[in-house]
Amino acid sequence: MSLKAKSSFSGVDISEIRKMNALARKDTINLGIGQLPDSLPQAVKQKGFEAFESGQTRYTSNQGSLLLREQIALYHSEKCHKEIKAEEVIITNGAEGALWNILFTFLERDDQILIPEIAFSVYNTIADLQGAKAVPYRQDSEFSLDFDDLMSKINSKVKFLVINSPNNPTGTILSEVDVRKLSDLADEHDFYIISDEIYSELYFGNDRPFSPLCCSDRVLVVDGISKRAAATGLRIGWTVAPEEITKPMIVANQYITTCASSVSQHAALASLDGSCDSFVEQVKADLKVKGEYAYRQLKTIDGISVVKPEGAFYIFPDISTFGTSKDVALKILEKANILTIPGIAFGERGDRHIRLSFAVDFVILKEALNRIRQTLDNWESI
Ligand code: PMP
Repeated sequence: MSLKAKSSFSGVDISEIRKMNALARKDTINLGIGQLPDSLPQAVKQKGFEAFESGQTRYTSNQGSLLLREQIALYHSEKCHKEIKAEEVIITNGAEGALWNILFTFLERDDQILIPEIAFSVYNTIADLQGAKAVPYRQDSEFSLDFDDLMSKINSKVKFLVINSPNNPTGTILSEVDVRKLSDLADEHDFYIISDEIYSELYFGNDRPFSPLCCSDRVLVVDGISKRAAATGLRIGWTVAPEEITKPMIVANQYITTCASSVSQHAALASLDGSCDSFVEQVKADLKVKGEYAYRQLKTIDGISVVKPEGAFYIFPDISTFGTSKDVALKILEKANILTIPGIAFGERGDRHIRLSFAVDFVILKEALNRIRQTLDNWESI
C-alpha cells in the first residue's frame, strides 16, 4: 500500500508564494520575498549568544518563558493602555504557529470563519484542514471593508473573523473607526476577532495601527518578531487572549510543539525591551521612502491602478488589463527577470493583482520598477 496524505489534505498544496519563489534564478531580482533584507539587530544576536552561553538550551514551559511573556504582556499593555497579564500570552513557533494553535484548538467541523477576500492563504488552509468553512468578506477597490457584505455573511455558525492590519498583500491599514465597528459586531453576534498584527510595527503614518485588543475582550491577537526584527528564522510568535481562552491553547501547544526554541525565546527579549527601537525606526523610515517611490512609479504606468501602501512592505497593483495574475507574473519573470507574486496566491479576488515587496535595496528597487515598466509598456509586442 502506498502511503497517501489523509483526505483532508486533498487540494492543499505548497503556497503559490513558495512555488513562484522556486522559479527564481540566481540573477533574478526577487520582489517576492516576505521578509526584510536587514541582518538581525545586534542586541537580538547578543541575547542569542547569551542564551547559549548561559545554558538556556532546555525546554521552557509549554506556554513559553515567563520572562518573555511578561515582556510581551507589557508591550501590549502599553500599546492598548490596559492591563494584559503574562498568563494571557503563549509563545509559539512564529505567528504561523500561533494561527495554527488557535484554529486547531477552537474550530470544529462546520464552524465558519470570516476571512478578507484578499488574504494570506494560511488562514484559509488551516481552517479547511479543521473541516471548517472559510467565508471570504468583500473589500472594495481601495481594500476597505464593505460592511453591507460583511453583515450579510454573519450568522450563528461564525466563530471567528480575521483581520490583518497592516495587511499582507495590500499594505493597507484598517481605520480605528472600522476596527471599533468590528468589535461591536463581535459583541453583538457572539464571535471572536483574530487580529493578525505581525506587521503592526511597520507603519508609515504617525499613528500605530489600532488593535481591537484596545477596545474589546473578544480578541485573539497574533503577533511575533519575524517582521519587526528581521527575524523570520528565529520562529518566535505569540498569542494574546483572555486567560480562559488561553488555557486549552497551552495544551495544544504542548502536543504540537512542546515549546518554541528556548534560544530564540531568549533572543526575542531584546526585540521588545527597547534595544531595537532605533532599528525599527530606521527600517520604517526606509520602507516609507521605498513604498512611496514604488507607488509613484507604478501609478504612472499605463493600464495599472494602485493603492498607496500605509504599512508592511508590500504594494499590490491592479494589473488586470494585462491578463491574469499568473500570466503577468510569469511574463515579468521571463522578460524582465523580476520575481513578483501572482495575486491569486491570496484568493480569487486577488487575481487582478500582483504583489511586489519593496523591502529590497533602493538601487535594486529602481532597476526592478524600470524593467517592469518597460515590460508592461511593450506588452503587446512581447
Ligand atoms: N501573518 C501574515 C499576514 C504573514 O504575512 C506571515 C508571514 N509571511 C505570518 C503571519 C507568519 O509569520 P511568522 O514568520 O512569524 O510565522
